[in-house]
Amino acid sequence: MIVMEPGKRFGRLILLELAGRRNGNALWKCHCDCGAEALVEGADLRSGNTKSCGCLMRESAASRLQLFRFTPPRKPKRKSRRYLTFPFGKS
Ligand SMILES: [Zn+2]
Repeated sequence: MIVMEPGKRFGRLILLELAGRRNGNALWKCHCDCGAEALVEGADLRSGNTKSCGCLMRESAASRLQLFRFTPPRKPKRKSRRYLTFPFGKS
């Protein structure tokens, strides 16, 4: 059981105060590491669905884009067996 109380951290969000209710769920006012504030349902925080004001998603989307753009060149697979190419019997 995760206790929801001011000061508690979920990802980048720190609970500030209970802001009300939405759809029967507690709505928390949160402060994000990026400096923004967000209203997040407590259920989303506990389940890990929401870990930031939305900046995390924007950043990970950007880094995915970078990964896609800067894919390192594929390393050639090392051959497990060496083929002997000595010129046997020829001199
Ligand atoms: Zn943020």
